[in-house]
Amino acid sequence: MNVVLLGPPGAGKGTLAVQLAQCLGVLHLSTGDLLRDEVARGTPLGRQAEGYMKRGELVPDEVVLAMVKERVNGERGVLLDGFPRTLAQARGLEAFLKVDKVVYLAISKEEVVRRLSSRRVCTRCGAVFNLVTQPPQQAERCDRCQGPLAVRPDDRPEVVARRYEVYERDSAPLVDYYRRQGLLVEVNAAQSPEAVRAQARAALSQ
Ligand SMILES: [Zn+2]
Repeated sequence: MNVVLLGPPGAGKGTLAVQLAQCLGVLHLSTGDLLRDEVARGTPLGRQAEGYMKRGELVPDEVVLAMVKERVNGERGVLLDGFPRTLAQARGLEAFLKVDKVVYLAISKEEVVRRLSSRRVCTRCGAVFNLVTQPPQQAERCDRCQGPLAVRPDDRPEVVARRYEVYERDSAPLVDYYRRQGLLVEVNAAQSPEAVRAQARAALSQ
C-alpha cells in the first residue's frame, strides 16, 4: 500500500508518519531526509542536488523524483511524508508509483498558531518543550540543563500564520486533485495525537 501524508506545518505530520509507516509495515520516506542522505553519501543524484542547494536554489522536481523512484524500487509499500508538494510533483510520481490513499491532516490556522507559539526551546541544549502538551517542570527553565527557554523566531505567531497560508495556497490544487480521484481521506488533526492516529488507521484499513 502506498500512502501520501499531507498537512500544514504544525499538524503533527512527522510523528504520525513514523507511527503509520510502522503499523502498515511500509517504508517511511521523508523527502527532506532522503535529500540529506543522498547528499551525505555523495551519490550521483545527491551531488546534483547539492549543486542547487549550494546556490540556494530549490532542487528541481526531476532530481527529487529520481531519488524517490530509486528508493521505493523493490519496496512493498511506502508512506510519503512531505511529498508531493505540488501538482507537477504528483503527476511525476504517478509515472512510477500508484498512490492508494492520501491522508490529509486538516487543522485551522488558529490551532496551528496556538500549538507552535506554545513551543519553547532551550537556548543552551536545544531541548524542545511545549507549554500546553509538554510543559517544563519549572516555568521557562530547561528540565535537562536548567538553561533559559525561548521562542524560536520561526514559531512566532505571525511567522507561523504566514507559513500556514503559503502551505494552504500551494497545496490546495494537490488536495483537490487527490479528492477528485477519490483518494483523499481527511483526518481532524486538532484532536489528541492518539485520536488522530486512530482516525488515520481506521481510514487506511477501509
Ligand atoms: Zn537545556
